[in-house]
Amino acid sequence: MKLQPGTTLITNGQLIDGTGAPPIPNAAVVVTDGLITYAGPAEDAPPVPEARKIDAKGGTIMPGLIEAHIHLTYFNVTELQDLDIKFPVEYVTLQSGVNAKTALECGYTSARSGGCLHNIDVWMRKAIEEDMIPGPRLSTSGREICGAGGLMDWNPDYRRIGMEGIVFIVNGPEQARTAVRKLVKDGIEWVKTYPTGDAASPDINDHHTLCMTFDEMHAVVATAHNHGLKVTGHCRAREGIYNALKAGYDAIEHGTFMDQECLDLLLKRNVPMCPGLGFELWSVERGKDFGLSQRVIDGHQETLEAGAESARMVLKAGGTLGLGGDYGFGWTPHGTYAQELTFFVNYVGFSVLDTIKCATLGGAKMMGRAHELGSLENGKLADVLVVDGDVMKNISLLEDRNNLLAVMQGGVVKAGTLVKPAVI
Ligand SMILES: [Zn+2]
Repeated sequence: MKLQPGTTLITNGQLIDGTGAPPIPNAAVVVTDGLITYAGPAEDAPPVPEARKIDAKGGTIMPGLIEAHIHLTYFNVTELQDLDIKFPVEYVTLQSGVNAKTALECGYTSARSGGCLHNIDVWMRKAIEEDMIPGPRLSTSGREICGAGGLMDWNPDYRRIGMEGIVFIVNGPEQARTAVRKLVKDGIEWVKTYPTGDAASPDINDHHTLCMTFDEMHAVVATAHNHGLKVTGHCRAREGIYNALKAGYDAIEHGTFMDQECLDLLLKRNVPMCPGLGFELWSVERGKDFGLSQRVIDGHQETLEAGAESARMVLKAGGTLGLGGDYGFGWTPHGTYAQELTFFVNYVGFSVLDTIKCATLGGAKMMGRAHELGSLENGKLADVLVVDGDVMKNISLLEDRNNLLAVMQGGVVKAGTLVKPAVI
């Protein structure tokens, strides 16, 4: 991805640097050749008379947001079954490109995939990195892995539908290894697995059900790590979280029914977690309109409460959290990602600064790129949001992209109201 040559000076706003430090009023940020070279009080900024100038209009200067669990290939589906049979790969790829552009326009300068159809992420990442299409810097995933009969194995055998475009259905460690080896060839970064079920499947794979054995999970990790890939998993039930941490997983998605033993293990191994929790509330509040049954909604209510408590436990204990998750369903459409921040402040009870830290530096840590992304500190890439307004007072400002004056990647202003719309 190209960096902006020359110098840019952003002034007239408070600085929230993403580290959790208190905001600095009347700050300045200097970007030189795409990197942050100063972020602090305006009066201490180095003189840069030749710089391009961006006026934050008394608003907020902060790091670009990081979606820690994105599904670019989900197209606002209302039923899981839609995912693999509704459209061909050609159309899903186009939709994925549109979703990537939307994410960037919403201020998400980076994203970590939580799984994709076919091998679209890898090629999407290449297209974004080569500036062919706009989108967040992407940490890729691929087709997912689930045990036979588990959450993702939803098509009845009589339909004779292959699911190789979305998930590898495995029986035993040998098949788990085979699946990972295919993903190694695909060139992905994260292997996404299903240690547990979900409220979405109340009859046979609910949120207390396991969908993979420990041996299958361990085989996935051993094979993935051998080839330098990382492993994560959809973990609701307590035993699934525990198995994942024991098997050597590199991240936990959801971590819903966390207990002290799991938390100790999470902290000891320094494993980041993405709660992906707003989805549960929106499922409860909006699910009826999309035909979710009362049993499914009740299950989401249970995972909502347990997930909120788990997130609070991890935050309090000093663990790493990334924010985001599962946008791309009918009731959580692409473009509404920043609801997650408002939800964490208003519902889960995180402070604004903690929420922003999780949604920036936390995401960068999950991606393994905290050395270059996630906060406005010297030497990091200038992925910056300039927001019209005080996000400390009103975090929901971030939900409306019209409040974004500038969305920068590597110092290049890619979106925001400062960019004039193209003339058609
Ligand atoms: Zn997901």
